[in-house]
Amino acid sequence: MKTKDELQRETEREKKRLDMIVSLSSDLIFEYDIATDTMHFYNGNEEAGRKDVIADYNTYVRETHLVYEENREILEEFYHQLREGREHIQLEFRKIYRDGCYHWFEIKAGTIADAEGRPEKVIGKIGLADEQNRYRNVLIHRMERDILTGLYNRETIEKLIRERLKSETASTNDYLVIVDVSDFREEYEKQGSLLSDAVFCTFADELQILFADNNIGRIGENEFVIYLQNTSFEKLEENRKLLNMHIRRIYGSAVKRLTPVCRMGASAFKQESTYEELLRQAQSALQYAKEEGGIWIYQENRMPLQPPKDMIPVREVLEGSFNSTDGDLVLFAIELFENVKDVRSVLRVLSDRICKFYKLEDIVYLVCSKQEEPYITYYWGSVHRDEYDKVSIDMRQQEWDVLLKQYDREGISVLREADLVQGKDTDVKSVLGIRLAEDMQIHYMLFVDRKQDRSWQQERIGLRRLAWIMHKRLQQMEEKQRELKRTNYIIEHDDKTDLYNYTKFLAVAERILKENSGRKYALIYSDFSNFQFLNETYGYVTGDKILIDFAYFLKENCSHGVLYSRVTGDHFISMHECKEGVDLAGQYVQVCNAFCDKVNKKYNLCNLILISGMSMIDDPKVKVAVYVDNANIARKTVKKNTVTGLCVFSEDMRLVSTRQMELAANMEKALEQGEFVMYLQPKVNLVEGTISGAEALVRWIKEDGTMVYPDEFIPLFEKNGFITKIDFEMLRQVLILQREQMQKGRKLLPISVNFSRRHQENPNYVEEVSRMMEEYQVPSEYVEIEVTESVFMDDFTVLNQNISKLKKTGVGIAIDDFGSGYSSLNVLSKVDADVIKLDRQFLLDMESDSEEVKKNFLNTLVLMIKQLGFTVLAEGVETPEQEEILKNTGCDYAQGYLYAKPMRTEEFLEFAKAYGRNDD
Ligand code: C2E
Ligand code: CA
Ligand code: CA
Repeated sequence: MKTKDELQRETEREKKRLDMIVSLSSDLIFEYDIATDTMHFYNGNEEAGRKDVIADYNTYVRETHLVYEENREILEEFYHQLREGREHIQLEFRKIYRDGCYHWFEIKAGTIADAEGRPEKVIGKIGLADEQNRYRNVLIHRMERDILTGLYNRETIEKLIRERLKSETASTNDYLVIVDVSDFREEYEKQGSLLSDAVFCTFADELQILFADNNIGRIGENEFVIYLQNTSFEKLEENRKLLNMHIRRIYGSAVKRLTPVCRMGASAFKQESTYEELLRQAQSALQYAKEEGGIWIYQENRMPLQPPKDMIPVREVLEGSFNSTDGDLVLFAIELFENVKDVRSVLRVLSDRICKFYKLEDIVYLVCSKQEEPYITYYWGSVHRDEYDKVSIDMRQQEWDVLLKQYDREGISVLREADLVQGKDTDVKSVLGIRLAEDMQIHYMLFVDRKQDRSWQQERIGLRRLAWIMHKRLQQMEEKQRELKRTNYIIEHDDKTDLYNYTKFLAVAERILKENSGRKYALIYSDFSNFQFLNETYGYVTGDKILIDFAYFLKENCSHGVLYSRVTGDHFISMHECKEGVDLAGQYVQVCNAFCDKVNKKYNLCNLILISGMSMIDDPKVKVAVYVDNANIARKTVKKNTVTGLCVFSEDMRLVSTRQMELAANMEKALEQGEFVMYLQPKVNLVEGTISGAEALVRWIKEDGTMVYPDEFIPLFEKNGFITKIDFEMLRQVLILQREQMQKGRKLLPISVNFSRRHQENPNYVEEVSRMMEEYQVPSEYVEIEVTESVFMDDFTVLNQNISKLKKTGVGIAIDDFGSGYSSLNVLSKVDADVIKLDRQFLLDMESDSEEVKKNFLNTLVLMIKQLGFTVLAEGVETPEQEEILKNTGCDYAQGYLYAKPMRTEEFLEFAKAYGRNDD
């Protein structure tokens, strides 16, 4: 037994867990208090803390309008389980929404005990379980049905009848009826088997119409079974006659010699009848029917009984009403639906015919649900033609009540002039309503006469049949449309964030622009930086959740946003309306910042930043995709590692970007054609005043002789990785030069090449360097490799190992741009390099410092570096003053425009020769 304290603590823990789950889940979380019958709903999408409380949950369950009739049992079961203290609760239910689709929900819950071990609370969640349930339902539906007719199959009907017999509602007015369709197939086969299938389908359809609300199944090829509840023998006989009459009307002309007819054998329910018994009895009655025709009913120990002729009220009127033309109309309807794909146009033609034939003005199709006014979904007629939103069937509540509530057993209701509210200005004279109840939704078809009052006695049967035919087709059509909508939804949306996908975004954006030519819009492209890190640190599930949250957050908080999409990964685009006096960019950045702050607080290891570019949509003739590109170009100009930022696109950015693309497109060919040329910039020995070496700097000299500077293409090549090829090309050119000089017997000067940090990705580069040194046979002391300081920001140990390896080949190592980034002297102490190149920035900074400060600082810096055993070179020396200061600090070498700019090899060789001479 657990102690009171333990249980207390357990409950506390459980509560904490619940809080966490609530904050993470998109499900609806609930907590039910058994003692007080109070239900709390926590909504996962809301800020934590918000809840809905339902006191007296029992009443709520009973009265709730949210849950449809068919779920009542489930809800009650749920309530029962809540009270019962079950360890696990699991239930499913479905709801229909205004979109007309069912949504499946799943409840999962568990009960928590109080300190005494008595059930105290139930905690659980309600989540969508749509997809699998939909699928399962389709499967179940298929399993239960006869493929051809859609009626229940043999196993299912048997099961259903057995259940019926066991239930308390079974009464002595119930019949089990076997319907046998006479064998017409031989004759029909000659006309193609499809026609005989059609006959079975028509039988099935008619059975469903005549015996609506009863269980009907197909138990053999031409045998059907019906369990008829609470009906009379007379009614049964009447329906059988109608059925035969109808089949004769439809198929009589198709097959003259042998019209299919049905015969019936019935047995009435008695106390404790079993399915087998009833079936056997009905079967034996059917034997008589097959020989004698008509319908026979089984009698205990006696001859089966046939209803006496005079007892059967087959109404004269009814027979009469089925004059050939009105039967033709039904036949016409069936044929039309069979042959014309477009259901809407069939309905239009058909309704037109119906209106003309019956002299009606309107046909109205309504949907009714419990909590709402009935609303019109389709309308046909002579008054407003197809525009159902213009229809006004101006009716009062009490008139609706007559039509929707006072229907007879066939679902027919009639509104006559006398029922109309007096003194009302309307031209409706009389209405026939047909109730088309299926599933959870109730539909009505109304036939309206605006000219005169009528009893509808003549028309009711024909119109009822037509209403059902139209209704069935409409249902099929709507189901297809829903299916299509669902498929389209999947095609058009990003499955993760539920935003439009890129293609759909473009299409919708184009449409919005076209429809709102007076308004101004802007496009924003955003990309998370550090998202990969987040994914790897907190897992992809978290990453996905953040993307989903972001989509939601943007939509909720951007007041001017009109359209959103996720392009790929962590890239989002959105379209915003620009309004007078609104700082769109500023607000957007604010929203992004708020989001990042939220995430960074929760996941404190990551530093999520949103980088965005914005492009104004200023020319409606330009495709939206171009603005997406522009915004993306602008985004790329935002500096990494800044706080969340946004750049607005300008035309020169496009030039830059086109230029970049052009460079990227030509780089391979340019390398092959030797367009990447080595320039050399001399390095000067400050103590001796001599040229001590040079740095190789690449220039791209194009076919037409124009020169491209590294500033323009190095960042690009860094990005696309091509830089490593350039570096090796420079190394090769250096080696070729040194080799030539050696062969000419000249004195060599060490030349340095720049090696990008991208080499670190492929540590084999060290081998490649050795191999080239080997190939050109240049002593390694005449080659130096510059690596930029920033490489150490990555993985110091690995990089340092690579550098040491490189050092072993004998080449000199220089740390380039020292002081421009983050590395400290502390880092330097561990690096296996020879030369430290002080970044030009030191000299620039000095300009603003006082004489004392600059000398002191530089003195100390150079001194310390030298103490660590490095040689020091100062970059970017432009003035004699700078040179003077450097000399005083003990700096070894200098490089800069004061001495020379980078130049062609021949020029450099000349320069070096002359420099030496002058100095000697
Ligand atoms: P860096 O390695 O720091 O090269 C020095 C840059 O400073 C060169 O620009 C040079 O022309 C310039 N410079 C030299 N003296 C002065 C001066 O007194 N004042 C000023 N303002 N500038 C001076 P360049 O040649 O345009 O190269 C720019 C950058 O491009 C280089 O900076 C280097 O990072 C990169 N780069 C150039 N060639 C290569 C290469 O072959 N491989 C790699 N990986 N990078 C290269
Ligand atoms: Ca350099
Ligand atoms: Ca440098």
